[in-house]
Amino acid sequence: MTVPTQAKKLKNFIGGEWVDSTSDKQLDVPNPATGESLGTVPLSSKEELDRAAKAAYRAFRSWRKTPVPVRARIMFKYQQLLIEHKEELARLITVENGKSFKEALGEVQRGIECVEFAAGVPTLMMGSQLPDIANGIESGMYRYPVGVVGGITPFNFPMMVPCWMFPLAIACGNTFIMKPSERAPLCANRLAELFTEAGLPAGVLNVVHGAHDVVNGILEHPDIRAISFVGSQPVAEYVYKNASANGKRVQALAGAKNHSVVMPDADLDTAVKGIIGAAFGSAGERCMACSVVVAVGDIGDELVARLVNASDEIRIGNGLKEDVFLGPVIRDTHKERTLGFIEIGEKEGARLVRDGRKDDLPEEGWFVGPTIFDEVKPGMKIWEEEIFAPVLSVVRAKDLTEAIEVANRSRFANGMCIYTDSAKAVRQFREEADAGMLGVNLGVPAPMAFFPFSGWKDSFYGDLHANGKDGVEFYTRKKMVTARY
Ligand code: NAD
Repeated sequence: MTVPTQAKKLKNFIGGEWVDSTSDKQLDVPNPATGESLGTVPLSSKEELDRAAKAAYRAFRSWRKTPVPVRARIMFKYQQLLIEHKEELARLITVENGKSFKEALGEVQRGIECVEFAAGVPTLMMGSQLPDIANGIESGMYRYPVGVVGGITPFNFPMMVPCWMFPLAIACGNTFIMKPSERAPLCANRLAELFTEAGLPAGVLNVVHGAHDVVNGILEHPDIRAISFVGSQPVAEYVYKNASANGKRVQALAGAKNHSVVMPDADLDTAVKGIIGAAFGSAGERCMACSVVVAVGDIGDELVARLVNASDEIRIGNGLKEDVFLGPVIRDTHKERTLGFIEIGEKEGARLVRDGRKDDLPEEGWFVGPTIFDEVKPGMKIWEEEIFAPVLSVVRAKDLTEAIEVANRSRFANGMCIYTDSAKAVRQFREEADAGMLGVNLGVPAPMAFFPFSGWKDSFYGDLHANGKDGVEFYTRKKMVTARY
């Protein structure tokens, strides 16, 4: 596997130049499937962030005036380049994140769809007029970009999540500073290279690698007007509170604990396939992962038996190998944390029906086999906390009302699914489930780019979600003109 030449010592991208960080702090970026170093990422300073903010601020002056169809054409060209480099990008995702190549290809596709949505910017940015609000007086609403936008992203989707942010923000006329996850930073540089190749002018997209210092720099910088964040709940809350206190627009997408309800009339083939994919795909490191199943009525025993059997068939290993479904978790520390949760689950009295520690795991890298707990009770730590690993909890409930109550007790509310043949059950679930993204008879109800990614409760901080019309609202501000001629 070849990685871009830059990968050995990642550079920042500031004002259209690839520059070495001035920081002497470099972090190793290992391939989680092998432990081998892919390169190093700099932990850049606030001063470097400031340079990027100044470059983005300068570029904003001309980019905001660049005709909208010209901006759209760059998006079309970018989309084409991303399609041409689909396999290369997917390989990059697999080596830095660990997910299977097939899932990485899916991620690239999701990223491309964001660019496709952004290419519709001439329609998306239209305003509205009313010719006669009073005798001889008219009113019009015009949309303008916000200014310099900062984006802070997590490790689990090194392409898709950045693509939720910068293509639409930039298409709307903003300039952008991206701070990728320091645990999966390679893809961001390739995305910036390809955008430049598509004709994006210097300074419109900047990439500053790092961790806390760069994030704090973004939160404080007076020239940065809006911040898109995706990551864990405590950091989302921190970013939301601090950025808002500094007068910035913020959307902060956070952690999750997604429940799937399986009704007694569910088609079990569909349910098991959907749950296995959602619980163990991407090693459970998805904000839309299914981490709790609520088995309703007498379906529980058969469902659990089938989930265990299906898990036994899962091929674990390096995501670049054919047929591998379950790759590693991101780091050794994350593996330790996951094993800690498995021990907690046993101590809490949940029944460990499949122990992923006992799988035949590769010696190198940080693997955990599919793990399933039955008889989990709401309130247990393994039910409550986001483990973000291939660990699934099964809770039993007597009926749908109780199942929804269990799911609604979670402080997180990203997604929830139901498996059933009953329209009545679907309707009750749709009306009563306290979550922002629902699925019916499918595993991962992640909306496409033209709809909002609409988590609720502690899974989201802010008002306007990422993607869709919410994204356009977030990255634009409105000007009202009322006129008598
Ligand atoms: P993380 O919170 O550790 O990191 C996210 C970003 O915040 C990174 O860029 C990191 O450098 C920065 N960061 C981390 N700690 C910080 C601190 N103390 N101060 C300032 N900045 C800090 O998240 P992660 O582990 O990379 O990603 C996984 C998390 O992201 C999970 O909780 C997952 O559910 C969530 N996620 C949510 C969504 C969603 O749409 N709701 C999507 C993807 C991932």
